[in-house]
Amino acid sequence: MSALFRAGTLGILGGGQLAQMLALAALPLGVRVVVLEPDPQAPARGCAEHIQAPYTDAAGLERLSQCDAVTLEFENVPLSALAQLEGRVPVRPAASLLVRSKHRAREKEALHEAGAGTAPYALINTEADLPGALERVGRHGVLKTAELGYDGKGQVRVAAQADLDPAWTELGRVPCVLEGWVHFAREVSLGVARTAGGELAFGGLIENVHRAGVLRLSVYLPGDPAEAQARELARRVAERWQLEGLMTLEFFELPGGELLVNEVAPRVHNSGHLTQDGGGVSQFEAQVRAALGWPLHDFAPKLPCAMVNILGWVEGQEPDWQAILKLEGARLHLYGKAHKPGRKLGHVNLVAHDEATLWAQLSRLEMLIP
Ligand code: AMP
Repeated sequence: MSALFRAGTLGILGGGQLAQMLALAALPLGVRVVVLEPDPQAPARGCAEHIQAPYTDAAGLERLSQCDAVTLEFENVPLSALAQLEGRVPVRPAASLLVRSKHRAREKEALHEAGAGTAPYALINTEADLPGALERVGRHGVLKTAELGYDGKGQVRVAAQADLDPAWTELGRVPCVLEGWVHFAREVSLGVARTAGGELAFGGLIENVHRAGVLRLSVYLPGDPAEAQARELARRVAERWQLEGLMTLEFFELPGGELLVNEVAPRVHNSGHLTQDGGGVSQFEAQVRAALGWPLHDFAPKLPCAMVNILGWVEGQEPDWQAILKLEGARLHLYGKAHKPGRKLGHVNLVAHDEATLWAQLSRLEMLIP
């Protein structure tokens, strides 16, 4: 019996919405998913075997080590958990890649080594690093914790050198990276998958709009002129970092068209959710295939499409669910999480045969999700 026909098992460290959507993509391929996740209400629990235990739990890791491969859905998994798995089961992406991508300073250094540009930056590890730091990166900057930041958390804007010390105090005086503020024309992202054998596949170039540091909206239009540059940068980084699995690069596009890498997520990404409904292979299926070492192909959508995130709302701002369900081309995806203002609870994908229809439907959709 061929390897594909024999039902495989994929382990995932983490059981949030990304694991839920990975599991939903794995099922039709005959792949069962096991997630290791301490949260009893984990979104993936409805469609995967859920081991409810800490990420470092010996019995939980033992169960994962029996899978055909292990992947992850967030970068802050303890490296000790990966160390316990490596050598027993293919871990994709590997700890060596995670060590780079989970630490902003190491990530930037490794991006430069791979030939990809970033915003100018300075390391703030001790008090001695503060004097003159802003000057070295530009007139304005943003101080970010080197680790554990996401969705704009762990970040403080710095408008003058005198603001830097208080900003560092606000972040707990932990190791930080001071980035020069980039006056970007737009933010875009692109996924890349790679097998251990070196086969590569790319997602399409997606444009992203943030609101208060959190992704609000993503749009994919076929034929973006910046796509070739993004693919080339993604290829360089994937090959230099010996990627096995899937990662997503977030870019700032400068007014002249040059792309700088903002950050790298070693996994599927919120901006790629629109691949679920845009036709073709989704980013989730691409990560499943790459983790299992199966044949890949590009996972750009076939049609113009968009995604709007649904965050936990404040009183009077609840999305209009009935109207969303009635909107032509819209598909609702919910994660089964408890409501909390600002929390990512779901998203709506929108797909259309042409760009004009996409924009028209998107303006309607945006009114339904305040
Ligand atoms: P991050 O969590 O680092 O991706 O930051 C969240 C968002 O803040 C980004 O998507 C940008 O919209 C904005 N941002 C972060 N760093 C910078 C920067 N150096 N220059 C301009 N905007 C930034």
